[in-house]
Amino acid sequence: MSGLETYCAEITDKLNCGILLLDVDLKLVMWNQFLEVHANKKLAEIAGQSIFSIFPELPQRWFERKITSVVQLGTPSFCSWEQRHHLFELPHTRPITTGSEFMAQNCTFSPIKRNNKIEHICILIEDVTDVCYYQSMLKKTMNDLALSNRIDGLTQIFNRKHWEDCLAQEFAKARRHDHKISLIMFDLDHFKLLNDKYGHQGGDRVLIDIAENVTSMLRLGDIFGRYGGEEFAIILPETDIKGASELADRLQKSINQADIIFQKNCIKTSVSIGVAELDKAESHYESLISKADIALYKAKSSGRNQFCVYE
Ligand code: GH3
Ligand code: MG
Ligand code: MG
Repeated sequence: MSGLETYCAEITDKLNCGILLLDVDLKLVMWNQFLEVHANKKLAEIAGQSIFSIFPELPQRWFERKITSVVQLGTPSFCSWEQRHHLFELPHTRPITTGSEFMAQNCTFSPIKRNNKIEHICILIEDVTDVCYYQSMLKKTMNDLALSNRIDGLTQIFNRKHWEDCLAQEFAKARRHDHKISLIMFDLDHFKLLNDKYGHQGGDRVLIDIAENVTSMLRLGDIFGRYGGEEFAIILPETDIKGASELADRLQKSINQADIIFQKNCIKTSVSIGVAELDKAESHYESLISKADIALYKAKSSGRNQFCVYE
């Protein structure tokens, strides 16, 4: 080795990335210390071996095509961790925290010319496990955030904002296709007394149980949300007033019959329900809410624990 070559070898050994040199028959010519350490193989023991015997996991056809294009075009080529998490199975030091056994890699394939002829291919392997890990954390956080923007924290059903967005969409769809759509709104009866008797936590338990109970009684396309404190609302796409009334009847009876257990107390409760159906005259979804609300008020003033249909 010339003085300069020794110098270069020393520098490549200090790099915090893998450098691997192949000949055009894909036999290993050289790799640096980073790869010796991470692959746990000494260069002297494996030099001259096919890259596929050193790394049997390599996607052989893909790899050969990649190298062929680098040699034929004489230009570098890149493979990012987003396309393939890793090419080479190189263990890393944080398999538990990053959730992956092997380091995520960005690989750059460069043609190396000698006497105007490409005789070698250099592969630069960068460890991007941290980038990959933080990116996946960010994605998860964004998903959680998007979900928490739509979900009511106590009852785990849709919050009012998202529920109303859904109603606007379903309303427009029903209008466009001249389909039916109905609305159910219900409010717990004398909930304030219940809070006074069992405390706020007892009240919360009732809200959670009712949300669960109602969810279990709905169809897949129905859209259930918490409209306010102890008021709930259900959008029933493709449902006429008859179908909506049947559901309202079942909900009212089921809630009234349920035993809600809180700190060894058996809490009984009831709801008043308003039902309304979209009619031809309506041009805003808000008027559908108003109609269900009027019917709900009627159910309250008629003695509670019942449903009323908007006439
Ligand atoms: P009505 O039959 O006329 O509906 O009587 P009500 O007592 O249910 O109605 P009112 O509007 O007087 O009281 C509603 C109560 O709901 C008051 C409020 O403190 C309670 N509330 C609202 N949100 C929550 C909540 O998240 N948890 C609990 N525990 N209580 C809540
Ligand atoms: Mg109430
Ligand atoms: Mg209320």
